[in-house]
Amino acid sequence: MDRCALCKGKLRKHKELKDEVEIKGWKCSKCKETYFSSNELLKWEIFSGRRKNNVRKIRKVGNSFTVTLPNTFVRADNINNNDLAIFKRHKDGYILQIVHL
Ligand SMILES: [Zn+2]
Repeated sequence: MDRCALCKGKLRKHKELKDEVEIKGWKCSKCKETYFSSNELLKWEIFSGRRKNNVRKIRKVGNSFTVTLPNTFVRADNINNNDLAIFKRHKDGYILQIVHL
């Protein structure tokens, strides 16, 4: 994206504090319309407290990266220690399929 969808003005990189969360995007140099990627808007939702459920931080443990499962899913789907998880690519990220042993 390098032109404004509204006026075709030139877009410039832009940073904005929204609810005390810095988000990066683009701003039209002509009409001042702002644009943000869906990833930046998700980041804003998480850090502004608007999205609380089912968000986990990815952590490095040794040479691997780990992420915990929300307890509501563990209880609802009866997920147990040593069950398997299959990651499948999806247009928005990944789908996690649990295989019970
Ligand atoms: Zn514009």
